[in-house]
Formats: sequence, structure tokens, C-alpha cells
Amino acid sequence: MSTSSQQVLPVATTRQVGRYAVALLRQYPRAVWLAAGLHGAAALAALAGPRLLGNLVEAVETGTTVGEVDRTITLLALFLVLQTVLTRYARYVSFTLGERVLAELREDFVENTLALPVGVVESAGSGDLLTRTSRDVEQLGWSVRWALPEWSIAVLTAVMTFSAALLVGWWVAIPCLLGIPPLVVGLRWYLRRAKDGYLRENASYSAINASLTETVEGARTVEALDLGRKRVARIDGDIAESYAAEKYTLYLRTVFFPSVEVAYLIPTVATLLFGGYLYTQGSVSLGDVTAATLYVQMLIDPVDRIVSILDELQVGAASLARLLGVAHVPDDRVATGRVPDGERIEAEDVRFSYVDGRDVLHGVDLSVGVGERIAMVGPSGAGKSTLGRLLAGIHPPRTGAVTVGGVGLTELPITDLRGHVALVTQEHHVFVGTIRENLALAIDDVASDERLLAALEAVDARDWVTALPQGLDTVVGSGGRTLTPPQAQQLALARLVLADPHTLVLDEATSLIDPRAARHLERSLAAVLHGRTVIAIAHRLFSAHDADRVAVVEDGRISEFGSHDELVKEDGSYAALWSSWHGTS
Ligand code: ADP
Repeated sequence: MSTSSQQVLPVATTRQVGRYAVALLRQYPRAVWLAAGLHGAAALAALAGPRLLGNLVEAVETGTTVGEVDRTITLLALFLVLQTVLTRYARYVSFTLGERVLAELREDFVENTLALPVGVVESAGSGDLLTRTSRDVEQLGWSVRWALPEWSIAVLTAVMTFSAALLVGWWVAIPCLLGIPPLVVGLRWYLRRAKDGYLRENASYSAINASLTETVEGARTVEALDLGRKRVARIDGDIAESYAAEKYTLYLRTVFFPSVEVAYLIPTVATLLFGGYLYTQGSVSLGDVTAATLYVQMLIDPVDRIVSILDELQVGAASLARLLGVAHVPDDRVATGRVPDGERIEAEDVRFSYVDGRDVLHGVDLSVGVGERIAMVGPSGAGKSTLGRLLAGIHPPRTGAVTVGGVGLTELPITDLRGHVALVTQEHHVFVGTIRENLALAIDDVASDERLLAALEAVDARDWVTALPQGLDTVVGSGGRTLTPPQAQQLALARLVLADPHTLVLDEATSLIDPRAARHLERSLAAVLHGRTVIAIAHRLFSAHDADRVAVVEDGRISEFGSHDELVKEDGSYAALWSSWHGTS
């Protein structure tokens, strides 16, 4: 119906995920080899058991002493202890490795997320990004911490156990092969249906949740409109769907598990039968048959883990693909290394759209001289804030150019850009951390206390900051000390003083601060504006009057541009706005 192309964040391909995982593990070669070595040694220790028991059986057959039996049992116990100790260290090493890899992944993800173009974040909506940061990270954490190590251990154990079985005699391979067809058939049948089955089950839980919360939160409305029966019917429907979904997955399991169990039993039984036959033929010893059967039985456990964890790993890989996908958003800033010549801000035939095919700016030209004060006025929705964001280099124009000193704003690295032009809105965020950290966000290097305090002084905030028990080291933000909105705004302004941009774009769109505080803040703001080029988006006409020149923005274009007096004389839109707002005739 609508032409809007909701941009969804990309998902990495299987190959990209694989390459990333390998590259990540390559960073920890020592830990990877140590973990593999320890797990291998543990598995090796476990393999001693069947061989020892096989020898024992053979010894009993040919006649042995009690001392011999005792020795074998002591050896068995020793290997068991050895296996336990080795397993403990192997797990320790692999879980630590898992945590490190996970930390690395998280950091990469945060970095990629922060590098996302603002426009992409806005059009993708925060929902997708939030799901990726919460659910996908959690899912992946589970896979990396638990599923991946367990799975690798199982694969290693299975391979070694199978090799040990083959060492007893090549004939053991035949009964083992018999187990593969039912396993593969059962697994394929299950995996082909399981994903959709479990997705449907999850979706049905979400539906029940949604209906219930909706009904409870809207209880008054439900009662007022007498919707009770309808809501109950709807929830009944959701529960019926959930029941059906659960019944389906239960059916899947009742088919899958028995088929897998059979696949596990076949090799053990077959080894016993085949080995017995070979023994009667005199081609193998009783000890070999015992050892082989025990090895094949030992295979069941790791193979079962390989199969059951495979499911988990798939889910983890899907999450990783979604997390890595964030890195594949094309960057809308390309640093070219060009250096601006001067501080003149210019917009040339700028067009811009939030949604493909629907421009909100239609060819805007604007040239702002150094030190000039420009006010932008116009009806709501005309495109003032959008133009402001482009002039501050937040979005690149779709076509045309926005430059400072002849260099495109999006050609400058963000930190350089902020030294030239910054956008000031009245939305401000206090980051969790100390006041010092909140201020230092604006600058790359470590600033001295004097420099920070001077910036606070400039915005009239030095007094209340130094009056705090911990001064600059007071922790603010969620969980810390709560700042009043004007204080938070002052911190934001002090940050600007530190970044020291030549040009400020002021968007007064959300002027919600109470007037008394506003007056106080206006003083702080005036101090910050001093000596800079200012482009002020005047949602009130106040500031237009004092500006050097006024740009009237209408329907995505600059329709009038000149000083207040000139525009009033022109008797166009601005004159009409001015007289209606000011009540003059
Ligand atoms: P003004 O600041 O003059 O009120 P804006 O620049 O905020 O105007 O908006 C210009 C047009 O762009 C409006 O039609 C508005 O609906 C649209 N717009 C603004 N922000 C977005 C956005 N994030 N996504 C899509 N459309 C937007």
C-alpha cells in the first residue's frame, strides 16, 4: 500500500559468520590449543577403561591372579581420577576462552552499532536493534559459553573414541556404520520441521502474552465497551493455538527421540553380535570384543551431545549473523582527508529524503558567512530541523552538497567535524559516569581539571558542580545522582564549549524547560554562542528579530532570505508570520 521502504538492518551470510568466528578464535591460539589439548588428554584417559577391562576379561579367560585383578582395578581408578582432573582444567580453560570471545563479540557489536549512520538507526526503528542487543546477545552468550565448548568436546571425544575402537580392530567400523542411516534420516526429518515448529510455539507464547497484557492494561476500556467476552474468546483462541503448537513439537520429539535411540543401540548390539561371530571364527579375542563393545557404547554419549547441541548452535549462529549484520550497513561518512579552508558553511542545491522517493528538502541553497547569525523560521513540518541536521553534518544530503570551507561535512571524521559545526538541541542525555567523563566525551584527549572547570564556568555551572561532595567525580546518570533538566542542559553546553565548534546549529524544537530555568539557561547559552557562527532554528520568532539574516523555510525550500527589516518590507510570508505572531498591524 505505502511506498515506504522500511529499512531493516542486514543479516550476515553464513560465510561471513564462519570467517568471523575463525578470525576471532585465531586471536587466542594458545587458549584454543590448550583447551583442545586438555580435552584430548581427558578423552584419552577415559579410553583406557575399556582396553583395561578387555584385557581383564582375557586374563580371566586364560587364568589370572587376584593381584593382577587388583592392579587392573587400581589402574582403572587412577585413570578415572586423571580424567576428572583433566576435564576440570579443560572446562576451565574453554569456558574462560568462551567469556573472552564473548567480550570481544560484544565490543565489536557496540562499536558497529555506534558507527551506524543516524539515518539507518532512525529508519530501521529501535526495535530491531534492541532485540539484537538483548535477545541475540543473550542467545549467543549461551552458545559461546556453553554450547560451543560442549560441542567441540563432544566432537573430539567421539573422534577419539571411534579411533580407539578402530585400534581394537578395523571390523568395528562396520557395526558403527549401521547406526548412521537411522541417525541421519531421523535428524534430517526432525531438523526440517523443528525450526518452524519451535518458532510457531514461541510466537504463540508471545501472542498469549500480548493479548493478556493488552487486556489487563486496557481493563477499563474493555469494561466500558463490554468487550469482556471478545477478549476471553481471543485469549481462548491464543491458548488453543499454543496447545496445537506444543502438541506438534511433542509429536516431533516422540518420533525423533526413539529413532535416535534406536540409531544409538544398533551399533552396540551389532558390535556384540559381529564380534561374537568373529570370536567363534577364532579371528578375534574375547578381550577385543569386550573392549570394542565398550568403546562403541561410549560413543553414544558424545554423539548424542553432538546431535542435541547442533540445534543450539544453529540458533547461536543465527544470532551471530544478526549481530554481525550490523557491521554491513554501508557507512554514509567517508573520510577523504581533505582539510577545510575557512569556516564558511554552504549548502548547494540540497535535496534530502527520509523515505525513498519522498523528498522533504527540494533544492536548498544557503551560504553562511563566518560569525553570521542566521535564523530559520517557517511553518511546522517545512523542513527546518531537517535542514539543521544536514547543516550540522548529521545526515548527508541525497543530492547536492553541504560544505564547510569547501569540504563536504560527511567527508570529515566525526571528531574533526565537531570542531567545525555542532548541533544543539534541547534533548540531552546524561551518560552514566562521572561529571568529568560526561564532559570529556566531547574531546579526545584528557582535559585538565582547570579546563573542565573553565568550561563549566562559561555556562554558569561551576558553582553547583564544585559544591557537590565529589565535585567533578560525582557519578551522575541512571543509578547515580539525578541532575535537574537545566543542569543536564548545562553539562551539554559545557561539552560544546570544550569541543569548541566554530559554528552552532541550534534547534529549539523542544523548548519544554520551565521559563525561569530557561532564562538562566539563556545566559549560559549566550556565553556559548559568543564569537561563533550561529544558525538558529526559531520555532518562536524571538530570535529571528536579532538575527543578521532570516531564512524562511516553506515546503522544503528557502522562500525568503534577508534581514528582518528587509523581509518585513518585502511583505511576504515572513511579514505575515511576524505580524500574526507579534500582533502588530
Ligand atoms: P520543521 O523542523 O520545519 O518542523 P522537519 O524538518 O521536522 O520540519 O520535518 C520536515 C518533514 O520531514 C516533515 O514532513 C516531517 O514529517 C518529515 N520528517 C521529519 N523527521 C523525519 C523522520 N525521522 N523520518 C521521516 N520523516 C521525517
